[in-house]
Order: sequence, then C-alpha cells, then structure tokens
Amino acid sequence: MASTLTAAKLVTRDTVVDRPLITVDNDGRIASISTREAAQAASVTHDFGDSTLTAGLLDIHMHGGAGHDVMEGTTGALDTVSRFLASHGVAEYLATTVTASLDSTFHALEGIANYIERTPVQDGAKPIGIHIEGPFVSHAKKGMHPAQFIVEPTPDLLNKFWEASRGTIRLMTIAPEVPGALDTIRRATELGIRSSIGHSNAVKAEALKGIEAGATTATHTFNAMRPYDHREPGILGLVLDREDLFADIICDGIHVAPEGIRLFLKAKGSHRAILITDALEAAGMPNGQYKLGGTTVHVKDGTCTTNEGILAGSVITLDRAVDKLREFTGADLPTAVRLASTNPSAMLGLPDTLAPGQPASFNVYNAAGQRTQTILRGKLLN
Ligand SMILES: [Zn+2]
Repeated sequence: MASTLTAAKLVTRDTVVDRPLITVDNDGRIASISTREAAQAASVTHDFGDSTLTAGLLDIHMHGGAGHDVMEGTTGALDTVSRFLASHGVAEYLATTVTASLDSTFHALEGIANYIERTPVQDGAKPIGIHIEGPFVSHAKKGMHPAQFIVEPTPDLLNKFWEASRGTIRLMTIAPEVPGALDTIRRATELGIRSSIGHSNAVKAEALKGIEAGATTATHTFNAMRPYDHREPGILGLVLDREDLFADIICDGIHVAPEGIRLFLKAKGSHRAILITDALEAAGMPNGQYKLGGTTVHVKDGTCTTNEGILAGSVITLDRAVDKLREFTGADLPTAVRLASTNPSAMLGLPDTLAPGQPASFNVYNAAGQRTQTILRGKLLN
C-alpha cells in the first residue's frame, strides 16, 4: 500500500533535510522526497514527530548471526540471518565468506547467489552481493583464516568464483603483497568488483602497488594488518593517509581501542570511513561455542576467540556500532549513520539509496538519538 512518511529531519548522503515528506509507492519504493511545506495537501500515513529518519544500514562485512553462517548457503540459514539483520536496522548487506576449502567456497557462492536472486524474505535485510574475505589473504596476517585453505590469487580463480556466484561478488579482500594479487585486483576491477586491501603484511611500496592496481578500500583497519612504523608506514600508514581510499573498521571497542577509532575517523574523515561488524553466527546468541567457516570460536561477553586465542570476528550489530562510534568519537548522528549506510554504498559505486525508485528503507532515531523503529522496503517493522 502506498504511504507517506514524515519526521523532523531526514539524513541523506550529503545533507540533512528539515521536515521531510517521503512518499512510498505500492512496491515499497520511494516515489518522491520533498518537504512538508512543498506538499501541504499530502495526507501523512506515518508522522514520526521530532524523530530523525536515516537510510537503512548497509553491512559490507557480515558472516552471519542468530546461529547461522552465510556460507551454509541455504534459504533457511540466510532467511534467519536476514531477519536478524533487519531487526538491527540493517536493510542491505554483503554476505561475506571466509577462507575455506575451494569446494565449500564454490558451494557457498552458488547458494548465496541463488538466495540473492530470490525475492527478499519478509522482514529481512536483502543481500545485495557477496564479499569474498578469503582465500586471497596473507599467511602472515591470516588472523583466524585457516592456513591450509589460503591460496595465491589468480585472475583465473577469481573468474571461477565469479561464475559460481553468477556475477554477484561485489567486494574482495586481498593482500596486495601476495604473488598474483595485482593481476587479480586488475581482473576484479574489470568485473566491477571492488578490491579491499587487508589481511596483509604489506610494506608501503607493496600496498601502494595494490592501490595503483585498483584497490579502493581497506578491510578492518588495524586488524590483521602490518602495524604502523613511522619510518616504514606500511599498509596501515597508507590506508590512514590516502584521502582517496575508503577504509572500514570494527567499532566494538574490542578489536580497536577507542583511541584507534578516534584516530581512524580523524584520518579518513566523514565520507571515507566505513563501519562494519565482521559479525559471526554467534551475533545475537548467548555465550558459548560457535563456528566461523570450519573454525571453532568461543564467545564470551562480546569477545570471539579461536582455540588458539586469536580474535575471530565479532558479535556486534551495526546499529550498536553506530552507537559506539558516537560514544567513542562524539560524532553526531548524521555522521555516524552515514559511516554505516551511504559511505559503504558510495564505496561500492551504488546509486544514492535515498532517491525515487530505491527501496524505502529507513531507521527512525528519536530526539535522544536512540534507534526506535525500522522501515523496511516501505513496511514498518515491530
Ligand atoms: Zn577478517
């Protein structure tokens, strides 16, 4: 059913609109965005009073949640993950694979591709593509990625992943210093896949080559990355310094200390910084033992570690990461929300989501800055 939304403010990619008036068509898409003064006669279906409307969140690095991993690749698993995400204000996401056997990887890519092509489950976020976090990572900075399944990147193997995913891969994490990486980044660019440097021990010159080959962003800045040295700034120095590069960060206060989060935001600025969750199937679940790919992960009070004690993904949700960013940096709501919505969208080269024809997905934040409701593809969620 067509509807009309209004609130005190609407946060868009570049500005904040006062007294917005949004009309939504029968298909749950935005029909128009104007202001109340400009369309006095319209009857308003949902008036959110002194609240602020923001774009639905977009998580570009998300392995699972609510007890399921996206690599299961089944409709049931992905429905559960998608609903869990929507309940945290996430409208869209990239289903993210980890390093696993080639068989499991191909199986996951096919399963997720099938799911992407379906109509999104009601009350569930929509996967808009796949992020392959492995297997093109460096052994030196593999984090929890299993060493036996790490493979050297080749354009040929990427082509095979691309075919298995039926063209739904949108993002690839890759260590630029590994043999074959630069050609694979070039191939990714040809396919329209964004390359994100990460899980990397690259020195400055190696990271620079990755950027020159076409990488445009960086994966979980600080984590699984060669540490900064003031004489050899390495990948991290380059990621923080290069104004043209996007970069993402896990803002749970566990993966990176608040000082690191503040330095990151100062360095990348409000248009290049991106928030991700790197969430595992354990997100939204009690303390206990879970899996990421084939690896056992122990979750205790928000921290996920492998048997060897290595940090492995997170259990934070993206709405909470937005809150944490504000807490750690003092960022205002529009800035914090853009880091988890319009910035990743811009990095992926997607059109502005707050425009006619786009799904009408919003979050509602009350005057105290708390997320109170979600509108998903034109429908109000509980
Ligand atoms: Zn990782």
